[in-house]
Amino acid sequence: MTSSSGAGRFAPSPSADLHIGNLRTAVLAWLFARSTGRRFLMRVEDLDDRTFPEIAERQLADLAALGLTWDEEATRQTEHPQRYDAVVDGLRERGLLFECFCTRRDIAQAPRAPHAPEGAYPGTCRNLTDAERERRREETGRPPALRLRSDVTAYTVHDVLHGDYTGLVDDFVVRRGDGVPAYNLAGVVDDAASGVDQVVRGDDLLSSSPRQAYLARLLGHPEPVYAHVPLVLNADGARLAKRDGAVTLAEIGVPEALAQIADSLGYAARTVEDMLGEFDPARLPRTPWIYQPG
Ligand code: GLU
Repeated sequence: MTSSSGAGRFAPSPSADLHIGNLRTAVLAWLFARSTGRRFLMRVEDLDDRTFPEIAERQLADLAALGLTWDEEATRQTEHPQRYDAVVDGLRERGLLFECFCTRRDIAQAPRAPHAPEGAYPGTCRNLTDAERERRREETGRPPALRLRSDVTAYTVHDVLHGDYTGLVDDFVVRRGDGVPAYNLAGVVDDAASGVDQVVRGDDLLSSSPRQAYLARLLGHPEPVYAHVPLVLNADGARLAKRDGAVTLAEIGVPEALAQIADSLGYAARTVEDMLGEFDPARLPRTPWIYQPG
């Protein structure tokens, strides 16, 4: 077992109560951190206005009820907006940002170069002249988003479970038009600010990691160790959701939830402390956990 001065973390968005799949991801993030001698941190990702303080409270209470421990008081992203503003200002001073006036629809309908990667920003606002920018500002009547002027189209990260993963890096948004820092920027900035060097989360975010690692490099931060763990799906193969039945800790109960999580990982243990003794990243399931609420 290696020891490290770094940290792992779990970073829930308080838009809905955690379901059994989110809880399992949190347990895995904790196991990864603790088994490598790392600190474990909790960060509430509440920048989006569809998040709620009372849901954050319940999420933290549920995670504590499972036996997870964290080494500092949980932080909330809304507590320190100036941290993101400072990074955005720094990128702007380096000439790495441009204003973007596009709506989603503009992006979907924009003409594309024949070999442009699927899902990439088409570059509409990248090279506007000052006069064109002024005209767009007047036409749209709303403040622009800020996008990163990326000088790559793809970037490779290393993931403990997926190996080398190469994914799209386009001119992605770092600050939304309404002034809110974008997820890709905020997470990278917070991970670096809190010494996080291990990122364990659901594999729905694997495709975001090249953008985030590229931004981390631009900001002079080391790339974290990534482990993107399989999601939990319902019997139809869709992402587990509240309508699938009893999926939250309040509905399942702590002992049963711990038993289900342990069983899904092939462990006999019934507490997270005991799971630590059985934890081996090389033996983690590589396929989704199909969950049938009782
Ligand atoms: N807040 C994100 C989510 O709940 C996770 C972000 C991350 O782990 O980087 O999906």
